[in-house]
Amino acid sequence: MEFYRERIMYLLALAVLIFITPFAVVNFVNGQILLGVSVLGVVGTFVVDGIAIHFKKRPPIPFTFLLIPTALAIGMSLKEDPIHGALWCYPGVLLCYFVLARRVAIVSSLVLLACAAPMVLMSLGTDIASRFVVSLALTIVVIFIITDVIRDLQEELLAQAITDPLTGAYNRRQMEFALDEALERHQRTAAPASVLLIDIDYFKKVNDELGHDAGDRVLKALVLLIKNRSRKLDRLFRMGGEEFLLLLPDTPDNAAMVQAENLRARIAESSLLKNRQVTVSIGVAACTRDSKQESWVKAADEALYKAKETGRNRVVQGDPSSTSAETGEADERRARQR
Ligand code: GH3
Ligand code: MG
Ligand code: MG
Repeated sequence: MEFYRERIMYLLALAVLIFITPFAVVNFVNGQILLGVSVLGVVGTFVVDGIAIHFKKRPPIPFTFLLIPTALAIGMSLKEDPIHGALWCYPGVLLCYFVLARRVAIVSSLVLLACAAPMVLMSLGTDIASRFVVSLALTIVVIFIITDVIRDLQEELLAQAITDPLTGAYNRRQMEFALDEALERHQRTAAPASVLLIDIDYFKKVNDELGHDAGDRVLKALVLLIKNRSRKLDRLFRMGGEEFLLLLPDTPDNAAMVQAENLRARIAESSLLKNRQVTVSIGVAACTRDSKQESWVKAADEALYKAKETGRNRVVQGDPSSTSAETGEADERRARQR
């Protein structure tokens, strides 16, 4: 977000420099020294930030402060010549939405409207003042609608980028970020973290016998059930197909085993499908000080493999140290699945 804001501010600084500087010159030529100085103040502050952005430095003037010289210049302009000042209110309102948080921008633009309206009314009469108020208010409403739509689209795009469209679980890419974060936290603070690798048993049969749509419904219902039975800080990721990873932060392996067993039992007794039991096998692994993401997931994967081998519908605890010795079993299973 900051990146886009800086890009916008850079272009704005360029526009201000090119289009506003001539007005400052005209003000000086006309003897409107104070107004000229305040307009130059606007140009100067924008240009300082623009130069910093150009050289990839942190802009020295916080964007919010750019509004101060702008408000001063608009105020002076309104005082000198209300019709000119009124015209500058429109870009002033737009600027609010670029540099301020949305709510503050709404309040600031309404304050600008409320301050400018009496000045326009006193010197230009009701005819112009009423048109000024209505047109500026409409401008504020339109910007509000546009920024609202952009915000919704942005949220939707973000959701699409991080979740699996079928189930709404987070996608694999997010899983990689989250596991790295948990490992980094574990190494920094020794906070425990565990993963549950959850795989539906004989899911191919569900598809083959009841159809792909029924399979999809099971996947969605399973995700819903797991989410409903997890804490707020736990995060569920779809690893692919009918395999999910539940990350349990601040959870040592014994607590993770309890949670896994609860989930397994709950799923086995739930009616994810009518007249047919759906079960899952779960591999559990806690991270260790020297865990890497791959070895951590592999420990859970090997435990899942054992759960499948020993009859399915069960939970098996992984041994993180065993993953350094290449057993190859889990790898083979993955290869078979692909
Ligand atoms: P196991 O107990 O060993 O895990 O057996 P399984 O049948 O669950 O495992 P297998 O890997 O043989 O089959 C997984 C199936 O999952 C195959 C594939 O058609 C199905 N699948 C993968 N993604 C989707 C999906 O998005 N929707 C549906 N309906 N099925 C899917
Ligand atoms: Mg399966
Ligand atoms: Mg699978």
